[in-house]
Amino acid sequence: PAMLGILGGGQLGSMFTVAAKTMGYRVTVLDPDPNAPAARFADCHLCAPFDDAVALKTLAQCAAVTTEFENVHAQSMRDLAQHTRVSPSGDCVAIAQNRIAEKAWIRKAGLPTAPYQTVERIGDIDEGTAQYLPGILKTATLGYDGKGQIRVRTVAEVQAAFEQHGGVACVLEKMVDLRAEISVIVCRLDSRHTATYDPAENRHDNGILSYSTVPARLPETVQRQARQMAVRLADALDYVGVLAVEMFVVGDAQDLVVNEIAPRPHNSGHHTIDACAASQFQQQVRLMCGLPPADTRLLSPCTMANILGDLWGGNGGEPHWEAVQQHPSAHLHLYGKTAARNGRKMGHFTVLADTADQAYAAAQQLHAQLDNTE
Ligand code: ATP
Ligand code: MG
Ligand code: MG
Repeated sequence: PAMLGILGGGQLGSMFTVAAKTMGYRVTVLDPDPNAPAARFADCHLCAPFDDAVALKTLAQCAAVTTEFENVHAQSMRDLAQHTRVSPSGDCVAIAQNRIAEKAWIRKAGLPTAPYQTVERIGDIDEGTAQYLPGILKTATLGYDGKGQIRVRTVAEVQAAFEQHGGVACVLEKMVDLRAEISVIVCRLDSRHTATYDPAENRHDNGILSYSTVPARLPETVQRQARQMAVRLADALDYVGVLAVEMFVVGDAQDLVVNEIAPRPHNSGHHTIDACAASQFQQQVRLMCGLPPADTRLLSPCTMANILGDLWGGNGGEPHWEAVQQHPSAHLHLYGKTAARNGRKMGHFTVLADTADQAYAAAQQLHAQLDNTE
């Protein structure tokens, strides 16, 4: 069977590897962490930095290569593309890595973002800055799970926040009147072979995704528009692979604004493993191999709940798994990480129900029963 390669061996790489193995492929994972979750399932684990020349040479021999995380190796992706099939492209990965490039591309595709200005040096903060307040100063690169973000109300606070970020390039984004957050996952081979999943309605706590519920409890028209916008962005990027597009639903009019993109399967798409005709990881395998996307149909309303390290007891005591394990419609996924830290994603579960409201209620109840911090 053909060998597939992936840069990154975290939980996304792990779920990709399981999907690929099930579909009959072999998998090589590149990840510097000897305990990378994907190493449990991979045929070959290259335990080396993402730009390691020897490791990249091995990956170049794979039939196709993809990535599970967007930081540091756009150039490695470009180099590999000289030798084998690489998706998404290094260029798309580079755009998603940098909020300044990302927002420019979103607008270039004719799609709305929150009002923003770039702040690359202290002099960029001037009288005009006031129109983006109150706002959030986000570092252009390396932020995730709400890290690298400072909320600001005055021009003086923007200056202080820029210093606090160490003077690195930033985007100042105006706070929008958020009514809901959704994400659309696009599976694109080319302009004639593109599919989208139903938008997921996402709840965050402390800047980290906590629950995704599908179908989103939003009007059909808004959901259809969200899918169209996501496809438009994928088309503008001539994207190949799985692309997640995060959007805000703003104000009484429920206007859609694009927040950011992720050039890979996404945490808000984990429900596709248990509640859709094909999972986002099966799609990643198919698309990297040049196969058209599979059926994205939602088979049941559901809610995905993240399991963070916060649920472990002070002495490392595991969460109380019993309720989730016993529930007939709950599907538990643990990533095989040993060290539980606050904010660290250790696993997730997806619960299926007759309606989105029932799934969300069940997920919250099951999640509360996991807590072992008392
Ligand atoms: P991720 O882990 O999804 O990559 P991130 O660190 O890149 O997150 P963002 O998605 O930009 O951060 O923002 C994190 C959260 O902060 C959003 O999901 C949203 O709840 C809130 N937020 C961000 N920007 C705005 C805004 N302009 N107005 C209102 N809320 C916002
Ligand atoms: Mg982000
Ligand atoms: Mg985000």
